[in-house]
Amino acid sequence: MRMATTRTPLTDALRQRFEADALLGADALPIRIPTGSVSTSPVATAPAKTPARPSVGPEEIESRSRALSVIDGAEVKPCTKCALHATRTKTVFGVGSPAGRIMFIGEAPGHDEDVSGEPFVGRAGQLLTDMIQKGMGLKREEVYIANVLKCRPPNNRTPATDEIAACKDYLLRQIDIIKPEGIIALGAPAAQTLLNTRDGIGKLRGRWHDFHVSGTAMIGEPIPVMPTFHPAYLLRDPTQKGKAWADLKMVMARLGIPIPQR
Ligand code: SF4
Repeated sequence: MRMATTRTPLTDALRQRFEADALLGADALPIRIPTGSVSTSPVATAPAKTPARPSVGPEEIESRSRALSVIDGAEVKPCTKCALHATRTKTVFGVGSPAGRIMFIGEAPGHDEDVSGEPFVGRAGQLLTDMIQKGMGLKREEVYIANVLKCRPPNNRTPATDEIAACKDYLLRQIDIIKPEGIIALGAPAAQTLLNTRDGIGKLRGRWHDFHVSGTAMIGEPIPVMPTFHPAYLLRDPTQKGKAWADLKMVMARLGIPIPQR
């Protein structure tokens, strides 16, 4: 017989931390989550607020895929709109499903991405994959992953304002083609670029924001954006994984994605 437990802010915080460690790839805490405990959070069981959209047919997927390839091949690969073209090895356009319900958007390629031409590879990329697959129960190929900048800033420095201004249109067109039901902005530069704010990630994360591809609330439907911590930051400070997991659960609740049972 299972003992009833009393929920307190402390037990909730511990549960959040344990779930995050178990689901997002940490191995410091040898803790197993009892079956069913993951879905007891009020956030996890909240009703979906975004109605499920009609599934995207194969012709539409093909059309979107072609449109993305044209932008990548004809515009991004030969792009010299900012100084970063001179130091890049490869441009890094994006990867994943053109019909992805969720887009993950980071700030810029790092060393591994610059070499491979694919976003979020290396250690931070593996953690993002864990967040998607172990945490959210999705396949990496089911979502779309991109960055604000398509070329690596030297020494992985923060993107400069003029670089973002030069490159942002590519991202806006990716979003417009993919039409995600939700965007997860990874880290401050991505969130600030999308939301046109200077607020820090600690203030932005954990709540929904509206994003308009058109740049104005007067045109088009808003896309909900959930800012959260960048996986590279979570590698440096794993104690923040609980907050990142809480953010992911808000996205899953809104889109009606069930939390995987273990
Ligand atoms: S970062 Fe963007 S704007 Fe700058 S050269 Fe690369 S693709 Fe062009």
